[in-house]
Amino acid sequence: MLNLTGKNALVTGIANNRSIAWGIAQQLHKAGANLGIAYLPDDRGRAETKVQELTEPLNPSLFLPCNVQDDGQVDAMFAAVKEKWGKLDILIHCLAFAGKDELTGDFSNTTRAGYDRALEISAFSLVQFGRGAKALMTEGGSLLTLTYLGGVRVVPNYNVMGVAKAALEMEVRYLAAELGPQNIRVNGISAGPIRTLASSAIGGILDMIHHVEAIAPLRRTVTQTEVGNAATFLCSDLASGVTGQILYVDSGYSIMGM
Ligand code: NAD
Repeated sequence: MLNLTGKNALVTGIANNRSIAWGIAQQLHKAGANLGIAYLPDDRGRAETKVQELTEPLNPSLFLPCNVQDDGQVDAMFAAVKEKWGKLDILIHCLAFAGKDELTGDFSNTTRAGYDRALEISAFSLVQFGRGAKALMTEGGSLLTLTYLGGVRVVPNYNVMGVAKAALEMEVRYLAAELGPQNIRVNGISAGPIRTLASSAIGGILDMIHHVEAIAPLRRTVTQTEVGNAATFLCSDLASGVTGQILYVDSGYSIMGM
């Protein structure tokens, strides 16, 4: 049975009610998990208020700032988890960033700074989270990240984010191999395109969505709830034999040749 009662789940990457992480947090809550929410802070505290108001109905027992570019904030987040919960069972890595300039036009125009920033935020952060999971998932657990088809195939305008997702997917395998003996499973969900704050920065995102609606076997895109359901499965004992995998939740789009 899918029951996460008694499991401590830390969810990162909620910016608003369109965020994939919001879909995941709701489904984890439905399954009975005790939630912690980590949000990206901004100077004016607006993000904090917004995410706090949104997530309040899920009764999170932890609410923490975490900019993955700041080692101090990442360490403080895991220290707070240890102090409050003692152990962590589920960690959702649902964040990425690349500058708008990097997500349109020719890939060869990617700047060094843009490349570094995209890879640091979107891929290196999973290494940081793997370290945190290793220390805190003392009774085993599940680390889950979000990726996209543009990490294995060329998708126009996805550019440097495709490189970041390729790195991220390989990290899933390296971390799964390292953490497996501690019964920590590491997986990724490759979601079909969904309109969110992050995806709206990608040039031609609406065309991508319409293309999926026309071509994918299910003739539609997926919802945050569907991704949340798959995430909940992967983080539950029902998936106890699954690690190092990328599960496509994309209406079947990725199987099509044309
Ligand atoms: P979103 O904008 O709602 O979420 C992105 C999150 O990343 C935000 O909450 C933002 O605060 C966070 N973030 C950015 N920089 C950060 C930093 N330095 N430190 C901490 N957090 C930071 O968009 P989303 O589409 O829900 O994206 C979530 C994940 O899903 C991303 O990894 C994205 O690549 C992936 N994904 C999205 C789609 C899609 O079509 N929307 C498809 C496949 C995969």
